[in-house]
Amino acid sequence: MKFDVVVIGGGPAGYPAAIRAAQNKLKVACVDEWKNFDGTYAFGGTCLNAGCIPSKALLESSELFLRAREEFATHGIGFGDLKLDLAAMQRRRASIVKTMTGGILALFKSNGVVGMQGHGRLLPGNQVEVAAPDGTKTLLTATDVVLASGSTPIRLKSVPHDGVHIVDSWNALEFDAVPKRLGVIGAGVIGLELGSVWRRLGSEVTMIEAVDQLLPMVDQTIAKEALRHFRKLGLDIKLGAKVSGATVNGDVVEVEYADAKGAQKLIVDKLVVAVGRRPFTEGLLAGGTGIEIDARGFIPVDEHCRTKVPHVWAVGDVVRGPMLAHKGKEEGVMVADLIAGRAAEVNYKVIPSVIYTAPEIAWVGQTEEEVKASGRAYKVGSFPFAASGRARAMEAGLGVTKIISAVDNDDILGIHIIGPMAGELIGEAVLAMEYSASTEDLQRTIHAHPTLSEALHEASLAVDKRAIDAFNR
Ligand code: FAD
Ligand code: NAD
Repeated sequence: MKFDVVVIGGGPAGYPAAIRAAQNKLKVACVDEWKNFDGTYAFGGTCLNAGCIPSKALLESSELFLRAREEFATHGIGFGDLKLDLAAMQRRRASIVKTMTGGILALFKSNGVVGMQGHGRLLPGNQVEVAAPDGTKTLLTATDVVLASGSTPIRLKSVPHDGVHIVDSWNALEFDAVPKRLGVIGAGVIGLELGSVWRRLGSEVTMIEAVDQLLPMVDQTIAKEALRHFRKLGLDIKLGAKVSGATVNGDVVEVEYADAKGAQKLIVDKLVVAVGRRPFTEGLLAGGTGIEIDARGFIPVDEHCRTKVPHVWAVGDVVRGPMLAHKGKEEGVMVADLIAGRAAEVNYKVIPSVIYTAPEIAWVGQTEEEVKASGRAYKVGSFPFAASGRARAMEAGLGVTKIISAVDNDDILGIHIIGPMAGELIGEAVLAMEYSASTEDLQRTIHAHPTLSEALHEASLAVDKRAIDAFNR
């Protein structure tokens, strides 16, 4: 079979590449091998099947459960016994995933993309061999090939995964009972999101983090505030703690680690390993393709996602940069446009990050620590959600919005938010930075009242000590 473009991988980097290429009037196939625990195949990759979407479904349900338990009375709302029906919560999660992954097939159909389920392997000369689940092999030839094979959880040798007691993030999204004691190795993005879910539903959660600082990539004003809130939620976060091993003993897991106080032992019912992800390239490349893998397992590419082999591109988690669905999507779309001869690029300096805890954390641009290290003179404005009428009305007055601006030309260098709907609010910050808005531009932009977005407005005013609704310090 002959195609203009064959995409290997149907996750958030691969499927948008396929759709955009088809929109560019190219003949496209997208090959994906994702297989769910129930044996069904589905497009959507990690994000839709085992990552972004199921985790957000459970974060939403568990947050509602917590608020019903702890906040409704404040609003004057009372009810009888609050019950958790975890099976129903999990059915909702599974049904959202099914709808979203099924949606990709519908999008493929409407755009004319040929979706193929099976394992794709790049052969020399831009050919792709597809091994279907029933073992049949099909050879595809393509003018351009896009590699979008994604990533997989890092496993620790001394903490052997069994999928039952010692698990990864995918297993931890599909627990059928709330573990009484949950251990999490790694207090990164996955650890904090999944730790929050199970804590809200009743688990005693202990998190063992090797580094002695929470979220080192986050602006430290925000990270320090986050640590306080997470500990208040009941996440027992142990920083600077090194795991030496874990063993399953009957129905429990015994974890050995060392912290500043010496050797420690933790006994839990389930242990989630969330220590990062690594690029996934197993069985992707036949010999002689000319594509190399770097020391960390990534496929090397230039800023336009070209590999060193002409007409072979690579996008998403399998290449450098943050392992984020929206970063992969933009790369996929860029590559599909470049293949069609259009101009396209990704602005790697303006990629937002969101951690979907409560309060949420979101940021774009440089942290204060990075700006300080760069030597550039800067000013900072911040606005607490405690002073936002809308946040108060939502019973969500925790957190702060912080803007870092350049002294020389008033450029916005970074925007950092911890607070309600931070992940939605960061969209305005991204747009402002993408359009090179100055801090004054934000100051002069009207924000509806009462909205959470006023926090961005007031923080921009605070940069010049001209906030109206907060003290200027
Ligand atoms: P993947 O999504 O991993 O997709 C790759 C696909 O290619 C898979 O379906 C795989 O089976 C298939 N494949 C691999 N090799 C082959 C082959 N040889 N032949 C055929 N098919 C192949 N990111 C966010 O931006 N926001 C979030 O909220 C978020 N939450 C997350 C929560 C969790 C628990 C996890 C684990 C991740 C989360 N992420 C989130 C990260 C996000 O899921 C990834 O960045 C994103 O999925 C990467 O997209 P991708 O297309 O590069 O790879
Ligand atoms: P991460 O890099 O965010 O966090 C891993 C944590 O584990 C780090 O804090 C690290 O110091 C710690 N760690 C590493 N080895 C350890 C060890 N031996 N013992 C104890 N701690 C150890 O990785 P993650 O949380 O696994 O997430 C993987 C990727 O998925 C991330 O790149 C993230 O961007 C993406 N993701 C994104 C979102 C989101 O956008 N909201 C959500 C989930 C995952």
